[in-house]
Amino acid sequence: MNFADRTRSILHVDLDAFFVSVERVLDPRLNGRPVVVGGPPEGRGVVAAASYEARQYGVHSAMPMGQALRLCPDLVRVGGSHGMYSRASKAVFDLIGGYTPLVEKVSVDEAYLDLSGTHHLFGNALDAADKMRREVKERLRLDLTVGASSNRLVSKVASGFAKPCGLFDVRPGQEPRFFSPLPIKVMPGIGPVTAKRLHDFHIDELGVLASTERWFLEEVFGSYGPSMQRRAHGVDETPVCPPWERPERKSLGHERTFAEDTDDLKVLRGRLQRLLEQSCAQLRSEGLLARTLSVKLRYADFVTETRDLTLPQPSDHDLEWWEVAEQQLERMLKKRRTLVRLLGVRFSGMERGFWQGGLFEQERVVQRGRIAVLDKIRSKYGEKAVQSGDRLWLRNSR
Ligand SMILES: [Mg+2]
Repeated sequence: MNFADRTRSILHVDLDAFFVSVERVLDPRLNGRPVVVGGPPEGRGVVAAASYEARQYGVHSAMPMGQALRLCPDLVRVGGSHGMYSRASKAVFDLIGGYTPLVEKVSVDEAYLDLSGTHHLFGNALDAADKMRREVKERLRLDLTVGASSNRLVSKVASGFAKPCGLFDVRPGQEPRFFSPLPIKVMPGIGPVTAKRLHDFHIDELGVLASTERWFLEEVFGSYGPSMQRRAHGVDETPVCPPWERPERKSLGHERTFAEDTDDLKVLRGRLQRLLEQSCAQLRSEGLLARTLSVKLRYADFVTETRDLTLPQPSDHDLEWWEVAEQQLERMLKKRRTLVRLLGVRFSGMERGFWQGGLFEQERVVQRGRIAVLDKIRSKYGEKAVQSGDRLWLRNSR
């Protein structure tokens, strides 16, 4: 069975050990040595990036720095130079943009490219990919790994196989054969819980998933089952979507009317937290940072009050917004002393971008990792799958 669109050429490009590679351009003495970027162990630092030499000792990103140094005593730690990484990233994407305007950046060092219809300019997609890799290496001294195929999903998995510093190409029509022997866990979107569930039914390879009866998958996984199966065949129709093709969002938010008017601070705080979590998860999934947060209260007498808050840096991070939002809520309640009918939050002053803090604020890197995991769990199992303490309380009391 093959549903793949053979006419498209999609690349997944990924810079190898990006932060470390930039540090090596700045200081060639780091070449060939086990290197990590991250904060010092005495400041409870964590590894933000590890060179392949360091990874051989079992060192990986998000690991506490103390542990990394114990695993690899010769480890060289560099503190990180964030402005430099942004500049290097921009230089790489400027270069890549010369090959096709259809570039969708998914992080500071990773993007999808649609090269369909550029053959008259660069020959086939593989020649273009190869030329691009050489150009990045010669001009910027960075290693770029490329996966190439007819769609995003297969190219993403292919680049994983090509790392480091390689080019892996899956020919049109070969997608199912490439996927068939691969373990379930290589498939983006299949997390440990789903993998375990599949394993319970002896479904451990993508080929087995692809040939499992559709009704059975539907029974066990609901509508997610058949879509997972389609992907196991190597099928993915998601287009490469450059920023200008995405509708520009002016604001984003959620609000909730209470079943009964309330002035219970615990209920209101729980609801505020939940609205912030929802809205921030949406910001992150759309690659947006917000400059302003508006907190809105409508009281029992239908008077509506809105207050705008800002942070020193635009953010998509609920914990950063939580502190200021909570204080604002308490100020508003103290002043009005009336029952609340509706609570809402709305983000505005949007900027496109990825969260940049962290290298120098190690606590936040760890938090960030946790948030990314929570986003994944929520998008897969619904919002109720993960709730913080206040929210559990809220659910049980209502
Ligand atoms: Mg990378």
